[in-house]
Amino acid sequence: MHEPKRVYYEEAALEYELGKILRQKYAHLEWIPIENHNNIPELRQNPNSEFAKMKQAIVVAVRKTHKFTENHKTSDFLVPYTSSGCSAACLYCYLVCNYNKCAFLRLFVNREQMLSKIIKTAEKGGRDLTFEIGSNSDLILENEITENLNWTIENFGKTKKGFLTFPTKFDMVDPLLSLRHNCRIKIRMSVNPEEIIKNIEYGTSHLTNRIEAVNKLRNAGYPVGLLIAPVVMLPNWKEQYSDLLLKLRECLSPEAKHHLPVEVIFMTYSYVHRMINNEAFPKAVELYDKDRMTGRGMGKYCYKPGLKEDGEQFLREEISKVLPEVKIEYIV
Ligand code: SF4
Repeated sequence: MHEPKRVYYEEAALEYELGKILRQKYAHLEWIPIENHNNIPELRQNPNSEFAKMKQAIVVAVRKTHKFTENHKTSDFLVPYTSSGCSAACLYCYLVCNYNKCAFLRLFVNREQMLSKIIKTAEKGGRDLTFEIGSNSDLILENEITENLNWTIENFGKTKKGFLTFPTKFDMVDPLLSLRHNCRIKIRMSVNPEEIIKNIEYGTSHLTNRIEAVNKLRNAGYPVGLLIAPVVMLPNWKEQYSDLLLKLRECLSPEAKHHLPVEVIFMTYSYVHRMINNEAFPKAVELYDKDRMTGRGMGKYCYKPGLKEDGEQFLREEISKVLPEVKIEYIV
């Protein structure tokens, strides 16, 4: 899955153990030296139509900034971790707002430094702090290339304080099942109706496989969560999301259902997405809907307030009817 086609790399990355491992693992690919992973001129100059092709490249680099950002949703801090960007191509991906057409997968090899800062901050905390390590990429997908997640879980699992958490849209969880996680890593599976996965979340795992991954993780003792995100209000969206809830009721194990907080997030979109998607995926579903969306500054769009309130009420009622065991953490 998502086998890279070429590698851009910073020279300094090859001094790290992971840099050396990746150099060997992908020795058969073209390796192109770069000065700085934030600015690769030959990629920046590509037209938007090259977006999908650019996602076939990976970047191997050293992360220089490790700034923690306070967060008040499911964690205490958002933490830059071992990757940013992604090889998949969900049409609404928020990473496009940060990296524009350069939203390809960057891998950072200095994982020891990054995890050590998290562990030190956790130890100093007066209570158990939660660190969101997956807000810049999908760590289950990244793990296929680097095995960073296996390494992280084993090492963080040995500590005495704090929790890590991250969301995913992928099902490749088998390597995690036998790790000693010590219940310190919470994995939140993001789900959407199968039609949306197929037509909008390009390159991600099927719904049935994602649900099966939740069951496996819960069975292996991991704390798990569910994200219904992003809710995409296509004309038949109520029907689609009702079917999704029925599928979850049918396929989630009783054990998972009873330990599954749910977060619900409505889609936001942007002018940058429109420009890239119209040129890169001209036949794709149009996510911008001028009748249903309104601007919210900085070129971003969200669903109109009345429509969203109606949507929120609908989902609250449906979730409590179909999945009464689960607790809704928030809807935004
Ligand atoms: S899987 Fe997540 S990070 Fe990757 S493209 Fe989709 S939304 Fe973005």
